[in-house]
Order: sequence, then structure tokens, then C-alpha cells
Amino acid sequence: MGTYAVTGSASGMGHETTQRLRADGHTVIGVDIKDADIVADLSTPHGRELAAAGVLAACGGKLDGAVLAAGLGPGPGRERLRQIGQVNYFGVVESLVAWRPALAAADRAKVVVVASNSTTTVPLVPRRTVKALLAHDADKALRSVRPFGPGAPTMMYAASKIAVSRWVRRHAVLPEWAGSGIRLNALAPGAIMTPLLQEQLATPRQAKAVRSFPVPLGGFGQAGHMADWMCFMLSESAEFLCGSVIFVDGGTDAYFRPDDWPKALPARGLLGYLRRYRRSRSL
Ligand code: NAD
Repeated sequence: MGTYAVTGSASGMGHETTQRLRADGHTVIGVDIKDADIVADLSTPHGRELAAAGVLAACGGKLDGAVLAAGLGPGPGRERLRQIGQVNYFGVVESLVAWRPALAAADRAKVVVVASNSTTTVPLVPRRTVKALLAHDADKALRSVRPFGPGAPTMMYAASKIAVSRWVRRHAVLPEWAGSGIRLNALAPGAIMTPLLQEQLATPRQAKAVRSFPVPLGGFGQAGHMADWMCFMLSESAEFLCGSVIFVDGGTDAYFRPDDWPKALPARGLLGYLRRYRRSRSL
């Protein structure tokens, strides 16, 4: 039986995943702003430090896996705009960086980051916001979405999920992650019926946008099914999964982007990649 850290363990997908892991006999260290083993506010540097240290102390230096599900959807107000970037991007990345040695200490640890299909289906997400988050410049990211007015939270949400997905793909393949046996992947759900979606459906403007969004299979996904996907991504069957972003969204991503992926590898820069790979294997 393993030891897993789950952020966002108090509600929705994180809660369902925690329940399943515990029912299977695993130890789960839940992290959330409320009702968790480690109560910490992931929207602040201090809260993230508490969460990082709390998990490391509770796991005894060895983590078999982690699920990063804590997140905030688009909502009104300046403070919420700040929190979206802080929790959805920094809350994931800083926790994982802190827990990496404990993950590396386990045999083939597995990590699931909860991204979103907003990464590929929200139009006009500013590149500079994504770039600012990846450069760990939270203030610049905030400034870059403010001109969008009422659309700013949606832009920040999608940018935070694009940034975290890119972070996963860039880091998953590195010696510190894949080379240390850690399988780092992301799940990109579509609209899933959880308190986060219920909050959006409670606002007439957002409810209209959510309900009119094309979902070829129709309806909403279930949190329990997403938890099943995450447990699978934490299982031995996912041994060969590395740097993947798995879309489970009723077909929305395929509907909007049928030809964007898979794409052939461009020849430009290929030799550089191959050289870098050979160098990393000979270290
Ligand atoms: P949820 O609201 O049920 O759960 C999110 C959890 O994150 C809550 O327990 C909440 O307390 C916690 N959290 C929020 N702010 C926090 C903070 N500052 N510090 C610590 N914990 C905090 O929502 P959910 O739908 O289960 O969301 C899980 C993840 O899935 C999120 O990252 C969300 O962005 C993502 N997602 C959700 C949907 C959807 O339609 N529900 C779609 C795509 C992606």
C-alpha cells in the first residue's frame, strides 16, 4: 500500500480520489483550505510552505504519488483573479518541487496534475500571461489579463491551466523527474459536475456560456469518473505514461481542434534535441 498527497481533498474530484485511494487501503495526506489533514491556503507563499512541509513530515520522506486537484474556477473580484493564478499554477508547481525528493525516494512514483480542457478550447488566451506564469512572475500575469475586464478571470483560468500543463510536459521528461522514476502527467477534464461548476452555473452569464459550449457527448462529466481516471494514472498500468495530458471532456477538444494534434515533428531543431537527450543519458 502506498502513501499519496492529494491537494483539493475536501471537495469534488480531489475528494473522490481521496475516498477511492483510502478505500483501497492507501494512506492519503489531504491538503485543502478546509477539512483536510493539512489545512493550508495554497494561494499564499506561506500556505504553500505549510502544505509542502506538512506533507513531507507526514509521509516520512517517501511519497508514492500525488494528485494536484486544488483549484479555483473563474469568478468575480480582484482577489479571486489573484487566487486563480496562485492556486492553479503556483499551488501545483511549488508543491511538486518541494515534494520531488520524497517522490524520487519511492519506487516509480506517479503524479497527476488536474489541468482542464480550457487549455485548448478558450479563444484568445494571452500568450504573455502564460509566459509570465511560467517565469514565476505573478504580478505580470495579473497585469496582462486586467484589460479583458469581465473576461479576465476566464483568461487567467485558461492561462493558469495552459502554464501548468506546459510545466508538466517540460519537466516530466527531465532527469530530475523521469530520470528519477517519477511519472508526471496531467488530466484535462471538461465540464464536471462539482461545486466548482455549480458555482459557475449559479451565475446566469456564466451558466449560459457553460450550457452553450459544444459537448459532442452532451451533459456533464462525473467527479467519480475523473477519480477513476486519476487512480488509473496512479496505478502500475500507467508505468509507461510520461508527460501526457489526457483529455476526458465529452469530445469538446476534438470538436474544436480535430487537426491540431497529432502533428509531425518539425525537422528544425531536431538535432539539438537528439544531442541534448544523448547528453542527459550519459550523465
Ligand atoms: P471543487 O471546488 O469541488 O474542488 C476544488 C478544491 O480546491 C476545494 O476543496 C477547495 O477548497 C480547494 N481549494 C480552492 N482554493 C484553495 C486554496 N487557496 N488552498 C487550498 N485549497 C483550495 O472543484 P473540482 O471541480 O473538483 O476541481 C478540481 C480541479 O479540477 C481544479 O483544479 C479545477 O480547476 C479542475 N477542473 C474542474 C473542472 C470542472 O468542470 N469541475 C473542469 C476542468 C478542470
